[in-house]
Amino acid sequence: MPTVIDPVCKMVVNPKTTKFKTEYYGRTYYFCCQECLDEFEKNPEKYLATSKTTTHSKRED
Ligand SMILES: [Zn+2]
Repeated sequence: MPTVIDPVCKMVVNPKTTKFKTEYYGRTYYFCCQECLDEFEKNPEKYLATSKTTTHSKRED
């Protein structure tokens, strides 16, 4: 059974059992808890950017 990574805390999440999920640009993301879901929705780009190399130098911390 496929599992996914919670992009906020990097925990392994089972899409079949978690009820915390959101859609962003046509993809569904799963979370371990409401806090992670809220955090992602506040700043999705921050969490999605970690999966690929950042080549531009713009920082928005
Ligand atoms: Zn989490």
